Amino acid sequence: MSIIVEQVTRRFTEKGTPAVSDVSFQAPKGAITSLLGPSGAGKSTLLRLVAGLEVPDTGRILIDGVDCTHMPVQQRGVGVVFQSYALFRHMTVRENIAFGLEVRRASKAEVAARVDEMLRLVQLEDLGHRFPGQLSGGQRQRVAFARALAIRPRVLLLDEPFGALDTRVRQELREWLHELHERTGLTTLLVTHDQQEALEISQHVVVMSGGRVAQAGSPEAIYNRP
Ligand code: ADP
Ligand code: ADP
Repeated sequence: MSIIVEQVTRRFTEKGTPAVSDVSFQAPKGAITSLLGPSGAGKSTLLRLVAGLEVPDTGRILIDGVDCTHMPVQQRGVGVVFQSYALFRHMTVRENIAFGLEVRRASKAEVAARVDEMLRLVQLEDLGHRFPGQLSGGQRQRVAFARALAIRPRVLLLDEPFGALDTRVRQELREWLHELHERTGLTTLLVTHDQQEALEISQHVVVMSGGRVAQAGSPEAIYNRP
């Protein structure tokens, strides 16, 4: 198991239901695990807890056997992609992809080689010198993936990565992500409210409701239930 979440609770208010309430689940190594559930179920909060953008009130989070519960984001080895691209609009595609590497003090040559590799991986070789505003929505989101993958993360964390795109592009990128995953074999956690997406793309599904895990298992086990 590559990501282990143990009895994690995170509340934002004193009263009422916690955003995430005593949640335990495991994401198998090398698989895509979907966190599926309606809006407000606690999916994003859970992803942010795994990413290190939130700290749990109680419980533990382990990545590849290492307790990361209180580890800063930069040390966790996680690549994160959100729904809205969060690319720097005044930087080119190359500069955007290089950003995480430069923060980590890689050499110029290392950065250039790595950016080339990432542009090939997301099939945007010819667009390295464009600015985000000169790309389609689908292309921008592929740049966001390249930036997340550039640091060679141990796990990939995706929060509704195709949620802002129209249906056709979303379907294309779903297939694209499937192929990307086959090539990288990266352990992936995907937040989605779309059952079809979870069914098509993941090998393991964790269904959330009201801050809790309602059920977890293979897509077949969850959807074929009488
Ligand atoms: P989902 O991703 O499933 O839509 P979220 O994790 O975004 O759910 O939200 C779960 C609950 O926690 C919601 O009731 C939401 O309003 C609340 N919540 C999330 N983030 C915050 C925050 N930073 N401050 C206060 N409440 C929050
Ligand atoms: P995709 O389906 O590849 O995500 P679209 O069908 O939306 O993209 O766009 C098709 C082509 O139009 C892309 O190759 C992209 O280069 C170009 N394009 C889209 N929007 C813009 C823009 N704002 N500026 C320049 N080129 C654009």
